[in-house]
Amino acid sequence: MPGRKNTTEMLIVGGGVTALSIAYHCARAGVTVVLVDPDGETGAGAPQAPRPVRAYQPGKVHNSQLTVRSLADYRSFAPAGGADLVLSDVGWLVLPTGRGRSAALEQEVAAQREAGVELQLLTAAGACVRNPWLDPAGVESALWCPQSYLLDVDKVVRGYAAGAREAGARRLSGKTVTGLDPRSGQLAVADGTFEADVIVLAAGAASGALAEAAGLDLPLWAQTAELFRTDPVVTGEEIEAPFTVHPESGLKTLGTGRSFLVGLERISRQEGMREVWFQETVAEVAKRYPKLKDAGLRSMWTGSVDVTPSRTALIGQAHERVFVAAGYTGQELGQAPATGRIVRDLYLGRSPGLDLAPFSPVPSRP
Ligand SMILES: Cc1cc2nc3c(=O)[nH]c(=O)nc-3n(C[C@H](O)[C@H](O)[C@H](O)COP(=O)(O)OP(=O)(O)OC[C@H]3O[C@@H](n4cnc5c(N)ncnc54)[C@H](O)[C@@H]3O)c2cc1C
Repeated sequence: MPGRKNTTEMLIVGGGVTALSIAYHCARAGVTVVLVDPDGETGAGAPQAPRPVRAYQPGKVHNSQLTVRSLADYRSFAPAGGADLVLSDVGWLVLPTGRGRSAALEQEVAAQREAGVELQLLTAAGACVRNPWLDPAGVESALWCPQSYLLDVDKVVRGYAAGAREAGARRLSGKTVTGLDPRSGQLAVADGTFEADVIVLAAGAASGALAEAAGLDLPLWAQTAELFRTDPVVTGEEIEAPFTVHPESGLKTLGTGRSFLVGLERISRQEGMREVWFQETVAEVAKRYPKLKDAGLRSMWTGSVDVTPSRTALIGQAHERVFVAAGYTGQELGQAPATGRIVRDLYLGRSPGLDLAPFSPVPSRP
């Protein structure tokens, strides 16, 4: 829309890793991009700590397709000049319990491998060799995926921001979007409005409320997520225990230094679940790791994440003039690189090379 004030081709709401990846890929493809977000140049402002990311998404082959593609991007990260973003490989041990769950995961091994996931079936004994802190009595079978890694998030965010800027994307920092109109492509901030051919909603945990206010009916909401750290549980050598999850309860752990990182992957629209989930985390740790029963758990990191009931992100066109990339349910880092490419391809009318039906923001009607 040349010649008109405050207009552009694509407005992206957000400045986190998802928004920046979209800006990077779209700008490089020649799209005129403007990012609108309240933060500074590097998204959340302060450097972001390295975080564990996993490529294997149990029960969700379509999610694994995104994480495997994203890992390939991270390993040769062009926006940061091929910088080494994968700090270390931590591995990912998945411990299904109950016959139904074990059988279901074993059945999808072939499809996961076809998606590029390196998966190995382990016996209970083999799982306890990988993670000797587990109570063997609670382990039935296991899947092992080496593609879980500690990611240098700060470098990722800065890399995409620099790459997007070099490709011509502009950034309007210090601007909080207060509303958007899917029909006109108008976006409101405190001191004015902007207009675009398309708006991309990629504002992390704020996306659900913005979508709702815009009249977009999306299964998407924000909820609290919390990570804990145990008190030190060894005095000598550092703990060797991979990223480990019990899909049934959602308990996930990772040995780091002399402590364990602990979290509980749950979703609920109900308010006030933080204390309930803390108590369940304590009980689950005691059940799965008797040796950690008396180790105190301290809150290490709390924040909001955008979630969907299917734990699958909404990526695609939600309205003629609105694209959505939100609802990652805690997996943004593992999926952001692929998301940028997908939104670019969809916008340009190209094939993204994978079935996007599971990610559709528009419910399929029978
Ligand atoms: C406890 C906890 C543990 C986590 N663990 C993991 C993990 O292990 N792996 C993983 O991948 N992820 C994890 N996450 C999620 C993590 O936050 C994401 O990895 C990542 O930071 C989210 O990326 P994003 O770009 O989608 O959203 P964000 O980084 O949240 O970015 C959202 C952006 O939108 C902007 N914004 C918000 N409101 C508005 C508005 N009104 N107008 C304009 N802009 C707006 C914000 O300023 C921000 O720039 C965890 C989160 C928490 C809280």
